[in-house]
Amino acid sequence: MRFNRLKLTGFKSFVDPTDLIIAEGLTGVVGPNGCGKSNLLEALRWVMGETRAKAMRGSGMDDVIFAGASTRPARNFAEVVLQMDNSERLAPAGFNDSDTVEITRRITRDVGSAYKVGGKDVRARDVQMLFADASTGAHSPALVRQGQISELINAKPKNRRRILEEAAGISGLYQRRHEAELK
Ligand code: ATP
Ligand code: MG
Repeated sequence: MRFNRLKLTGFKSFVDPTDLIIAEGLTGVVGPNGCGKSNLLEALRWVMGETRAKAMRGSGMDDVIFAGASTRPARNFAEVVLQMDNSERLAPAGFNDSDTVEITRRITRDVGSAYKVGGKDVRARDVQMLFADASTGAHSPALVRQGQISELINAKPKNRRRILEEAAGISGLYQRRHEAELK
């Protein structure tokens, strides 16, 4: 499913509501250092169900909430909405009756995260599975992290192969072969 829009409120440096239109053909985000490019990509991973604070460059999940600046107080929640194109009706049953599907994740300080798909409350697992089936998601090689290209170039051949196999979507086959050999 294609991503149409990403809406952020109180997420990291995006304290004011921000609506990013993801036009067809968008392949990169450019801007001065510290303007929030990596934060945008993290918002995308986060709304898809990322649970590791480290992947968000934080020590705890509450670190994604706007922490305040000299002129502005901290916020108590962060919310990211990802709107996806569903004109081909690829969304799972129950969420499949309109041309767009919206996934919302909201974290409240000291409380934790809540997820919605199409306005209905769902579990984190439901959102993660939705993306696993669409072969994208928070860990997808389709999202290229800062520094990941040089990691790939400098990796040992064996590790580099693993990354390429992950990108080709064949790494699951090793697990299945291993299981078959044990039988
Ligand atoms: P670079 O070009 O250096 O990679 P970038 O555009 O990727 O920069 P980001 O890393 O996305 O920039 O944004 C960094 C900014 O986000 C910093 O100014 C940092 O203070 C701010 N920031 C991160 N987390 C929070 C938070 N919880 N609250 C407020 N600001 C935050
Ligand atoms: Mg960056």
